[in-house]
Amino acid sequence: MAPPRVMFVNHTSAIAGAELILLDVVRAWRGATAFLFEDGPLEAAMRSKGLDVVLSRFGRGLTNLKRDASLWRAAPLAGRLAGITAEIAGAARRHDVIYANSQKAFVLAAIANAAARRPLVWHLHDIIDGSHFGAGQRRLQVALANRFAARVVVPSEAAASAFAAAGGRADLVEVVPNGVDIVRDPRSREDLRRDLGLPAGPLVGVFSRLAQWKGQHVVLDALATLPEVRGIIVGDALFGEQDYAATLRAQTEKLGLAGRVQFLGHRADVPLLMQAVDVMIHPSVAPEPFGRTLVEAMLAGVPVVATDAGAAADILDGGAAGTLVPPGDAAALAGAVARVLARPDDLAAQLDRATARAQDRYGVAAMQDAVAAVIARLAAGAHA
Ligand code: UDP
Repeated sequence: MAPPRVMFVNHTSAIAGAELILLDVVRAWRGATAFLFEDGPLEAAMRSKGLDVVLSRFGRGLTNLKRDASLWRAAPLAGRLAGITAEIAGAARRHDVIYANSQKAFVLAAIANAAARRPLVWHLHDIIDGSHFGAGQRRLQVALANRFAARVVVPSEAAASAFAAAGGRADLVEVVPNGVDIVRDPRSREDLRRDLGLPAGPLVGVFSRLAQWKGQHVVLDALATLPEVRGIIVGDALFGEQDYAATLRAQTEKLGLAGRVQFLGHRADVPLLMQAVDVMIHPSVAPEPFGRTLVEAMLAGVPVVATDAGAAADILDGGAAGTLVPPGDAAALAGAVARVLARPDDLAAQLDRATARAQDRYGVAAMQDAVAAVIARLAAGAHA
C-alpha cells in the first residue's frame, strides 16, 4: 500500500522546540508536504528534509499575534486568516491526513477541514491553561478539537490533563513523549569551556527562547545572591518577546551582574554549550508541556535544576533525575544551585539515572514510530 499523503501545517517559520520536534517527525516523511504560513529558517530546514513546501500568500507576521490576546484583536486580520484557511482547504484535498503542529495551524486547519474533511491530527505542544492562553482562545481551541480533530497528540501527561481540564475530549488524546537524540561530545568540560570561549569557575546556563514564562528573570535574581557563580543565557526572543529581552538586560545592569552574566543570543550549538556548564537551569514560571532542554541536559550528563511546573517532575522522575524547585522562587533556585555546585561528586548516581532515563523514554525513533502509527491508523480509516 502506498504511504499516506500527509500535509504538515505550521504557522511560524522560526525554529523553537515544537519546530525541532516537527523536523524530527518529518524525517520519516520525505516527499510529504509542509504548509507554512511564512518563509524563514523552518522553510529551508523542511526542504532539506525532502518535503515539498507550500507557502501561504497571507501568513507573514501572524507569528507575533499574542496567543493570550483576546479574539477581537485578531478581527482586523480576518481577511488574511480566511485566505490562509482557503489555501489549507485547497491543499488538504490533495492529501490523506492533515497534521497541524501548532495552535494557530490547528485552528485554521480545523476550520479548513470543515470543508476538506480529511483526518486531522493536532500535535499539541502547549499546556492549554490560563497562564498560556486567553479564555476565548482556550474555548475556541477545545471546541474545534472536540469537533474536528481525529487525534490530539501531546508530549506529556501534564499536557493531556490540561487539555482535558479545559474541556477537551480525553478519548482524542494520545501521549507521545518528545524525542531527543544527542551524542555527547568527547571533550572534557574544561576543554569545551576553552574552545567555546566560556569562563572558568562555577557556571550555570539557561537554554531557551527569551519569554516571560520561561523565567530567565528568576535566574538573574538568583545569581545576584551567588557572587561566585557566572551564568550564560542562551536563546533569543523568537515570538514578539523583545520587550522581555530588554527588561532582562536592564535587570542584569541593575543587579550589577553585567560582568558575570553573558547573553549569547540564539545558538545552534546548544548541546555543546550545555555540556560545558556545571548546572542547567530550567526556570519556567508557568507549566511546561515538555521541556526539551531537560532531556538534552540529561543526555549531556549535566545536573539539572528545574521548576516543578508541568511535565518537568515526570521527566525528572519526581526529582530523582534532577532537582525540582518551586516556580518563581529565586531563593529556592539559588539554594538548589549552590547545593549542586558544592557537591558535584554526590550527583554521579543521579546523573547516570538521568541519562539512562532520557535514552529509554525520550528517543527520536520511538516518537517517529508513534506518530507514524497515528497517521497510518487515520489514513486507513480507523478514526478512533
Ligand atoms: N534552543 C536552541 N538554541 C537556543 C535556545 C534554545 O537550539 O539558542 C533549543 C533548545 O536546545 C531546545 C529548544 O530550543 O531543544 C527549546 O525547546 P523547549 O521544549 O525547551 O522549549 P520551547 O521553545 O518548545 O518552549
